[in-house]
Amino acid sequence: MIHIEHLSKQFGDLAVLRDVNASIEAGEVISVIGPSGTGKSTLLRCLNLLDRPSGGRILVKGQDLLDPATDVAALRRRMGMVFQSFNLFAHLTALENLSVGPRRLLGVPAEAAREEGLRLLQMVGLGECAERFPHELSGGQKQRVAIARCLSMQPEIILFDEPTSALDPTMVSEVLAVIRRLARQGMTMIIVTHEMAFARDVSSRIFYMDEGVIYEEGTPAQIFDAPQRPRTRDFIHRVRSIRCQITSAAFDLYAIFGQIERFCEKHAIPPERENTLQLLTEELLALLTAGAGPVDITLTIAFAEGSRTLEVRTDSGGEPANPLAAAGSPDDLGRRLIEGYADIQYRHAAGRNQLVLTLKDAR
Ligand code: ADP
Ligand code: MG
Repeated sequence: MIHIEHLSKQFGDLAVLRDVNASIEAGEVISVIGPSGTGKSTLLRCLNLLDRPSGGRILVKGQDLLDPATDVAALRRRMGMVFQSFNLFAHLTALENLSVGPRRLLGVPAEAAREEGLRLLQMVGLGECAERFPHELSGGQKQRVAIARCLSMQPEIILFDEPTSALDPTMVSEVLAVIRRLARQGMTMIIVTHEMAFARDVSSRIFYMDEGVIYEEGTPAQIFDAPQRPRTRDFIHRVRSIRCQITSAAFDLYAIFGQIERFCEKHAIPPERENTLQLLTEELLALLTAGAGPVDITLTIAFAEGSRTLEVRTDSGGEPANPLAAAGSPDDLGRRLIEGYADIQYRHAAGRNQLVLTLKDAR
């Protein structure tokens, strides 16, 4: 139903979408997850041509969205969009909100539009609210009217952009229940959401977005139980992290200590563990910057909120060699210190030496 090929979108110098590729079949429910700022809304807005893509192709049922000959208004009608903020017409009743589009844009006679509007309001559980104005409805009710209004235009695809994130927590489930029902009825939907349990339950596939691409995709079981790539894993395990680039042996260790301190404060990590993190960082960076070659290190401090595991990770250039291997180590004391406080994993991947030190005192 939808083919996305090499889609890119730039805002000035900022490349938000770099190379998005996907195929979505009719009847699929896709949940798009990922950190904020990774282009999830931009992807939906490009699909609906609310934003003009910078490059690539989008085919909807074989029709090229970016072809100047395409009737954009007709296409938007086939693709409904539900936003975080309900965007209802404030001066119209719930029922009028539903009937105005079909009457004006689809040419449906007033009485038929009214009947269909009532049917849809009943379907979303709001049969009794037809004559109410938006200000007389709760957030959850407004969002259900917005979904019904979207359905009134008889879309073939519905795009949801965080449909529950503006809602009071008590109202989230009533809106999700309506979306679940649409899924059961076979509606094709793309849903940007932070509701992981819901995404897992309702979706045929999950797209994890990061770095301007669909960084990993798979079934809910694949993505939630066995994510393959590092950023997906961190996101699923709710890992919080900070990163520093170190490009010279004369790097500012105390500035890094300051960052570690703020990170620990933010995540309520106790002082003993903060001290261990700083010690491991100092010893590891001393080892990695001891040689004569160029210094090219990315340091990451990572904290998993669920298990409270702490890691010091480095990713560095140079010859493939484990800097903590007993033999080659120029500073044996440093290495033994590190072994006392952390479990060490080394691998060489993508031309880089990668070390992960996991603090032993997980609590
Ligand atoms: P997400 O929905 O994943 O949180 P968005 O798609 O909203 O991310 O935004 C991705 C990036 O694009 C952000 O850095 C945001 O500031 C930027 N962005 C979004 N819309 C615009 C715009 N109209 N002009 C400039 N930058 C934008
Ligand atoms: Mg967004």
